[in-house]
Amino acid sequence: MELVTRRVAEANSLKRYFTGEPCKHGHVSERLVRSCVCISCKQAAEQAYYKANAAKKRELTKEYRLRNPELARARVRACAKANPEVARIWTSENREKIRASVRKWDKAHQGRKNAIGAKRRAAQIRRTPAWTNADDLSVIYAAAEVAKVMWPDTEVDHIIPLQGKYVSGLHVPLNLQIIPLFHNRSKGNVFHP
Ligand SMILES: [Zn+2]
Repeated sequence: MELVTRRVAEANSLKRYFTGEPCKHGHVSERLVRSCVCISCKQAAEQAYYKANAAKKRELTKEYRLRNPELARARVRACAKANPEVARIWTSENREKIRASVRKWDKAHQGRKNAIGAKRRAAQIRRTPAWTNADDLSVIYAAAEVAKVMWPDTEVDHIIPLQGKYVSGLHVPLNLQIIPLFHNRSKGNVFHP
């Protein structure tokens, strides 16, 4: 690089000059005429500022999202709608992230799961005739608890589902059986006579 003193640079309306001498941080770089600041030092400072600021900016964005979840979501939705291709690529590249967020949502909305359980229990009550012997029922549930010691996946199942698609069974001993959990869950609400 050509040596240009500050005075010469200034006389020629140049913004930078170059002495060939290292700065106090050892950079052999051009310096600014206006401030004598080393260009490499300036760039390093700018990078450090950007880095510190980026973290701060991320923090602020996060805070904003937490304070205005609806607005933040609406913005994301609007952005995705305006850039469907970008959204599609992001989705395909962040499957694990999306899955984790769905899991988090499920966990945070245990209430929804509980509501499904409550509905089921309500159906159970409606499907329990007055003549059902509560003791007979509890014997079956107690037996299932004993079976669980050996087979933890054991569950009490309604042979004809309580909330069936075509027919609904009763919550009575005759309609109960003790079976492995996976069998119960895979059966769903469809009864095959
Ligand atoms: Zn420097």
